Amino acid sequence: MIPLAIPNIGQAEAANLQRCVEENFVSTVGAFVTDFEAKVAKLSGTALGAATGSGTQGLHMALRALGVGHGDLVVVPSFTFIASANSISHSGATPWFVDISRHDWTLDPERLSEALRDKTTRTGDGVIHRATGKRVAAIMPVYTLGTPADMDAIGAVAREYGLPVVADAAAAIGVTYKGRPIGQLADLTVYSFNGNKTITSGGGGMIVGREDLVKRARHLTTTARVGRDYDHDEVGFNYRMTNIEAAVGCAQFDRLDEFLAAKKRIRDAYDTAFAGNNEISLFPAPSERGTAYWFSGLVFEGPEPRVVNTLCDRLKELGVEARPFWKPVHRQPPYRDAPAEDLSVTEDLWSRIITLPCSTSLTPEQQATVIAAVRQVLAA
Ligand SMILES: *Cc1c(COP(=O)(O)O)cnc(C)c1O
Repeated sequence: MIPLAIPNIGQAEAANLQRCVEENFVSTVGAFVTDFEAKVAKLSGTALGAATGSGTQGLHMALRALGVGHGDLVVVPSFTFIASANSISHSGATPWFVDISRHDWTLDPERLSEALRDKTTRTGDGVIHRATGKRVAAIMPVYTLGTPADMDAIGAVAREYGLPVVADAAAAIGVTYKGRPIGQLADLTVYSFNGNKTITSGGGGMIVGREDLVKRARHLTTTARVGRDYDHDEVGFNYRMTNIEAAVGCAQFDRLDEFLAAKKRIRDAYDTAFAGNNEISLFPAPSERGTAYWFSGLVFEGPEPRVVNTLCDRLKELGVEARPFWKPVHRQPPYRDAPAEDLSVTEDLWSRIITLPCSTSLTPEQQATVIAAVRQVLAA
């Protein structure tokens, strides 16, 4: 079976892990954690990074650092991995779903602006969502497929309403936006190093961005300890990445350029293979912004698009692991009652998508096998 997206682990990772064992630094204190934070922060154009046990924890702590809590609303697209919304729930707040743009699959700044204009009132207590009476506390754009959202436009709306921005950049490491490093586009930006991301630490995440806020987030992730032993100034969390995870992350970081090139090569090969098929449109890669080409796949067009699950079953029989993409969060039981704007792009798009094998270790021969299998299934 040719897998969908698996880690690419080798000798460099093994050597770093061996060092953890020899030096006996395996927990949340260790040189690899601080080194990994420094590497990722520098690449992101920020002074500091705070490494966490997962991307979800990173998003949760970023929201906490900004003071998002019980009774608040956070604007987020429904077209995302459920972790974005879960981080909002973990902080005690509720997601408010706004649609994406068809052009890039990221939060649509015009829909965002309309939602705030039409559904909220500005008071001394902040921006209040009239239907629920809740305070709108932050905006969380998601960098779908590793493509930054239209952050110039979203930043302008955020400033107009005085709202902070936490970017879910889970799969966007290594990307720049109009020549700028992506850690500078939002108040806080969060990466994931889960096993299916471009680089992995086994499991992990990282918060980068405004120095005061990253410091605050790091304080929260390390049990809010102050000064000497066993002094804690608030309810903190035990959410710091371990040295073992960071050892893998550091070795992977040094291979980032190789992996990003592989992701682009894989996307280009699929695009070339399927460009002539008018039943299909290709995954977006807006030319005015960077992208990490995190995932590759196809979008089925037309009034009666292919049933993606059936295609995936047939491909599996041919030895190819293909999968649908994110089922929108507003369709998931825990979020059915969350406030939502018109989500017609999300509703139309999600069931048309099939993701295809795109591990950085995928060989050209394997990819040719995938392409032939897809052609065979589509012709049947
Ligand atoms: C992977 C991912 C996350 C969650 O990261 P974890 O490290 O798995 O907690 C959040 N948002 C998006 C968009 C993701 O793709």
